[in-house]
Amino acid sequence: SIPVITIDGFSGSGKSKLCQSLSQYLNWFSLESGVLYRILACLFLEQKNPMSKEYIIPLLKKLDQYFIYKNGYICKIMNKNFSNTYMISNSVTIIASKLATYKYIRKYLVNKQRLFRQPPGLVANGRDMGTVVFSDAIIKFFLEATLTNRVHRRLQEFKKKKYNYEFKNLFQDMKARDEQDQNRKHSPLKPAKDAIILNSNNMNCIEVVHMAIQYIKQ
Ligand code: C5P
Repeated sequence: SIPVITIDGFSGSGKSKLCQSLSQYLNWFSLESGVLYRILACLFLEQKNPMSKEYIIPLLKKLDQYFIYKNGYICKIMNKNFSNTYMISNSVTIIASKLATYKYIRKYLVNKQRLFRQPPGLVANGRDMGTVVFSDAIIKFFLEATLTNRVHRRLQEFKKKKYNYEFKNLFQDMKARDEQDQNRKHSPLKPAKDAIILNSNNMNCIEVVHMAIQYIKQ
């Protein structure tokens, strides 16, 4: 079957960077699954209805209109209607994580995520890539770093995007989201049994990529 490499971990652990680098290195497709939850959150916030099935299902059905597959090797999900700053904002992030607790939403998005599996291969990042979505992946990475380090890294990214955030506030928000992702009933965030744990506390992103490539070559 078509090979998949999965990358899971907490927010700000460096999943996206590693995913992009590995997909470029291998010339494989890539999937950043969190974007699907974020687009759904944007659509939800736009319509101002309660978070109930009758309002969410129509949003799931029109999700496809809000991203495209780019040609070439990297298959990055693009968003046409919402700005990048809005997509990573606190309000969207909190709602994305809340929506991700519902079983029927996860089920729908899991099926969608599996469609990204195309030859020659896929590198997928998220929270449940190795445990649920691509449990038959050939290599599963789980990225770890302390909350403080992850908050610092996120703040640096935000600065580049001219998005201002106080350390204290981001720390609290990320802590709350970690807990929600970890403690939810359906597909909680945890390493797959056969995952390789990459601890990035004392490594920069280039070193993490090198280490991951060493595992791939083995
Ligand atoms: O990865 P990102 O931070 O963009 O994901 C936003 C939220 O979507 C996460 O906090 C998580 O609750 C949810 N998510 C998920 N499963 C995934 C990807 C994201 O539950 N595979």
